[in-house]
This record gives sequence, C-alpha cells and structure tokens, in this order.
Amino acid sequence: MLTLGRYRLSAILDGMFALDGGAMFGVVPRPLWERQTRPDTRNRVRLAARCLLALDEAARRAILVDDGLGDKWDAKRTDIYAIDRSGAGIDGGLAALGLRRGDITDVVLTHLHFDHVGGTTRHGPGGVLELTFPNAIFHVQRRHWQWAHGPTEKDAGSYIMENFALLEHAGRLHLIEGEGELFPDLELIVSEGHTVAQQLPRFHAAGTHLTHCGDVIPTRAHVRVPWVMAYDLFPLTTIEEKKMLLAEALEDDGILFFGHDPDVAACRLHEENGHPAFREAVTL
Ligand SMILES: [Zn+2]
Repeated sequence: MLTLGRYRLSAILDGMFALDGGAMFGVVPRPLWERQTRPDTRNRVRLAARCLLALDEAARRAILVDDGLGDKWDAKRTDIYAIDRSGAGIDGGLAALGLRRGDITDVVLTHLHFDHVGGTTRHGPGGVLELTFPNAIFHVQRRHWQWAHGPTEKDAGSYIMENFALLEHAGRLHLIEGEGELFPDLELIVSEGHTVAQQLPRFHAAGTHLTHCGDVIPTRAHVRVPWVMAYDLFPLTTIEEKKMLLAEALEDDGILFFGHDPDVAACRLHEENGHPAFREAVTL
C-alpha cells in the first residue's frame, strides 16, 4: 500500500495471461525484446492483469481502476491466452484489505479491451450474467464507449460485448466527456494512440503524482519510446503521448503504474544517456 495525498493506493492482481510477443512489441525485433521477457514455445509473453485500488477514506470512496480478465473464459480462449486465475484474484486482494466487492463505489475503466473489463460482469446463480460490483458506478469515456460498439476489423477482436452489455441498462454507466477531474486529486488524461479515448487516471499529491499508464506503457519494457504495441490504432500518437507521460514523471519524480508488467506494479524513472529509463520499482 502506498499513501499519496488523500489516497491509499494498492495494486491488485486479477490474474495472469499471455499474448503474442510480436504483437506486444510491434516493430521491435525478437532478439531485442526477448532479452526483456522470455517467450514461451508458442511465442507468447507472460503478462499481468493488474488493477489499481484507490481508497479515499474521508470521502468513503473505494475506486477500482480496471477490473481484469474476469472468469467468463471458455477452454479455447483460456488456452489461446494462457489465462491463469489460480491466484487470489480481485476478491482475495480486496479481502486482504478488509473489503468486499460490494464496497467498491466506483470503477474507472481505462478502456473496454477484454483484459481490462472482463471482471465487470460474471455468471451468477443459474448462469445469469450479473454485475460483479453491485454498488459501483462505472466511468468510461463517451467516445470510447461509442467506438467499442463499432470497432474496425483491426480491433474488433479486443471487445467482448458480454463484459459491458449490462452497464447501460442497469443505470451504472457514467459516460465522461474528455479530460478533467473525476474526484478531488484524481484527474483523467485522455489518450488516442492505443485506441480511441482511452482514459489514464492520475492521482495527485503535493509535488508529485502517480499515473496509471493503461496500454500506453503496459510494461516496464515499454518505457522505451519506440517500443509500441502492434495492437495500437495510431502508433505515432502513442509515441508522442508516451514521451509526455515520461517527461511529466521525470519532472516531479512521479510514479508510473503498469497494468500488464508481469513482475513490477509501478516504478520511478531517471535519465540514462538522455532517455527516460526505469530507475526503481515502487511497491503498492
Ligand atoms: Zn488495450
């Protein structure tokens, strides 16, 4: 746990999975990226589905950023994505903090790709789909919500409708128009490189900040500016946005939170040969 201003922040691991190494590192040749993360026999690299919990006790708010892979996976996709949910998951992570699913007041979804929103719904009694966090409001950028309902051939495979189909009719959806402060000291930054209108939560404290890097910088290996995923719709935009996040983190010794790094939840940076680089892991 890390205290940052009014917030107590904790990383919660929903599960592990794996994606094609070539897709994760775009144009970077395998001899370079395999030094950072060793692929399995099917060329997949191991990734975390990590959520960020922010508690503001004074405001009685428990905010979850993204809700992981969830548990609605059939055998075929479990195999393709090497989904491993043998750990404590979100329920276990919350229990360790004395919390239950019903205590979550808000879920901020960075974007609606299946590895970020899978835990929004689950199969309840009788196999009926239900919302996993019964008391939460779900915050999504309006332009991203619209995009997810009409993606292109390139990114259609990243959306699984049953993950977010219930939100609209359950009255749990808060559609947000662009950047701004969602709650005190919690700012949303909108990014357009990875997908349309991804939102990156940034928690502010006196003189510093922590930014959830979403899929702009998914792992510590992606701190390198040209290491951009092949999944991205607009990779040159990702590069500009990444440079901005890195410069801002260097400026006030800010913390970058990684949703997908298999080992490191967050880090601080320093400059190495004129480039921003990983300095030290931050535990939370
Ligand atoms: Zn994504």
